[in-house]
Amino acid sequence: MCPSEVFEIDPQQLVLPKNIRFCTKCVMSNQRPRITFDDEGVCSACHYAETKSKTIDWDTRKRQFQELCDRHRSKDGSWDVIVPCSGGKDSSRIAHQLKHDYRMHPLCVTFSPPVYSEIGWKNLRAFIDSGFDHILISPSGTINKALSKASFIHLGDHNEIFDHGQMSAPFRVAAENNIKLVIYGENGEAEYGGTSDNNDKPGMPWNDFDRTYYSISLDYLINITKEMGYFTEPITSKSFDAYSMPPLEELERLGIEMHWFAYYHFWVPQDNFYYAAKHTGFEANPNGRTTGTYSKYAQLDDYTDAFLYFMMFIKYGFGRTTSDAAHEVRDGHITREEAVELVRRYDGEFPEKELDIFLNYIGISVDEFWEAVDKFRLPHIWAKMDTNWKLKNAVYLD
Ligand SMILES: [Zn+2]
Repeated sequence: MCPSEVFEIDPQQLVLPKNIRFCTKCVMSNQRPRITFDDEGVCSACHYAETKSKTIDWDTRKRQFQELCDRHRSKDGSWDVIVPCSGGKDSSRIAHQLKHDYRMHPLCVTFSPPVYSEIGWKNLRAFIDSGFDHILISPSGTINKALSKASFIHLGDHNEIFDHGQMSAPFRVAAENNIKLVIYGENGEAEYGGTSDNNDKPGMPWNDFDRTYYSISLDYLINITKEMGYFTEPITSKSFDAYSMPPLEELERLGIEMHWFAYYHFWVPQDNFYYAAKHTGFEANPNGRTTGTYSKYAQLDDYTDAFLYFMMFIKYGFGRTTSDAAHEVRDGHITREEAVELVRRYDGEFPEKELDIFLNYIGISVDEFWEAVDKFRLPHIWAKMDTNWKLKNAVYLD
């Protein structure tokens, strides 16, 4: 990608199908990047859910995971596996099972979210206190803010830079500590809808990393932040080490392997909540449901997260409720009709409570915020009626 080229909107928006459709089995929209629908209007995530429950032999997969652990387990108790860990329900469960069921010696790594929430911090501390070695990587606040601002203004996603840090940090720590195994949770592309290319693979092949996780390069983000004059202090080539992925050739040379826990174990987010509540002191949101959805236990750690999902709603016409409810339909916890009602009620809810925190974090005014937001509304998704924006299509209007 040429760094001097500046995108007006997220390049992923440019390739969306113009005819909006919703999965006939769950409620997912065909506007989700990389998702595919079959001739019956069923989405790729629903197909994967069916494969999970009908085709995959989970006993065999579990045995394979046991063998993977046997191959990597240290004899002297030194760290033998990295678990990228937010202190949330999913990573807490993975670390706990690795330690207690598979007798591994995990080192848990967190890349600090932009603005820790009170419950997020409490859950992380409770997780560490339940018996885990842990490293928290916190990049410079001023640099992180500047990069987040540029990511928000140019891509409608302030977390694009966080994603770089979160994905890179575990591999850097693995390379520095000579730990050969990194265990992630689920293949998000398979579970939530995206490309099906790696559904039958135990981890992301290195040559797919750039395409899937780094379609917007770190150099691009740094350059637009520089061009916009957002950096408030002198920067050097070392200022961005916290976000840099070690060269993939080096990871290959060191023999570092990345695997998805959910490739080997049947993955149900709700079960992870009950497991983490029981074993690592995880607590649901004490204030009730999270803004933009009906769920009380998913992604609680960061106050700015609500804007990630609000912007997903602006850019693609579906929000966090759609994502959560679609997964629960696939898990058999709710019906499609119930999901449609939840979407009608909560999807795209504006994060009023978190607005000041967000504006203060990226350093823009309310007017600048709305100017940036409206730039990402595509004409096939949104229509302006007088002064109000309305979705042209929604699963409850179908
Ligand atoms: Zn579906």
